[in-house]
Amino acid sequence: MTKKLVIGDVHIANNERKRIYLKASKLYDFTEINIPVEVIRGDEEGPVLFVSAAIHGDEINGVEIIRRLLGREELNNLKGTLIAVPIVNVYGFNSNSRYLPDRRDLNRSFPGSSRGSQASQLANTFMTEIVKKCTHGIDLHTAAVKRSNYPHIRANLKDSETEKMAQAFNSPIILNTPLPHGSLREAAKKIGIPIILFEGGEALTFNEEVIKPGVEGVLSVMASIGMMEKDRQSIPVNKVPTSHSSHWMRAPHSGILLKKVELGERVKRGQLLGVISDPFGRDLHNIKARKAGIIVGAATMPLLNKGEAIFHVAELR
Ligand SMILES: [Zn+2]
Repeated sequence: MTKKLVIGDVHIANNERKRIYLKASKLYDFTEINIPVEVIRGDEEGPVLFVSAAIHGDEINGVEIIRRLLGREELNNLKGTLIAVPIVNVYGFNSNSRYLPDRRDLNRSFPGSSRGSQASQLANTFMTEIVKKCTHGIDLHTAAVKRSNYPHIRANLKDSETEKMAQAFNSPIILNTPLPHGSLREAAKKIGIPIILFEGGEALTFNEEVIKPGVEGVLSVMASIGMMEKDRQSIPVNKVPTSHSSHWMRAPHSGILLKKVELGERVKRGQLLGVISDPFGRDLHNIKARKAGIIVGAATMPLLNKGEAIFHVAELR
């Protein structure tokens, strides 16, 4: 017997593909706020995977990853169900903002509550209508404004199913990071749903070098958990390097930065990463790597106040 799948008040049967506008809330002018969802259910029972983007409303690479994913032929022959949610934070997406109108961060508001803040209510809707109906999840992000991220996976590798998904995505590096309090990853883990987070590129733009591997990564994860035909390569031949801790290098002085390394570059301990100077090119301060690793995040603006983040280094021994 097949399991019932209902999202909002829409029933999705086997072999059905449906677009749903999931009711989230009403604005004070009574405009309805809906979360767009597309569900593709295969003929055979199998894993139920959600792929979500724009939990931070200005992080739109993931929106494009999902848009392209939904056009792929491989989805016509699924085992199990794909639930695609290209825009979770519809408020932020429409105002080009990371946050909600109440200035809260949705990814610090999980699992949420129907009686909580606007962000808490949205988190609760996403948890109850989507996440709790799934067996696996992939959440797509980019760097915050004025920063860029090298494509990487963030995951809790203590769980073997999560590690399998993280490896299958085949990004250049995996960060085995702690689960931030109030994050979707933390809430999913508490109810036993393995989830990985893909990071890459900048906010409010499309980065091809992130979108292309993002689409392929999602398809590879789907293959690895048994949602696709066997001929698709699921697990990469070489193990993806894993970092177990990372740190931000911050500007030791205010000034103008000249970077000496690029995103994705492997750096040695003590290597020169950049030079900060005054507007005349004097008063130079070298920024050197504290530990060996890969540059997975960087400021895009070369104008820095003391203490501002410059490079995010994923440590590698
Ligand atoms: Zn984000």
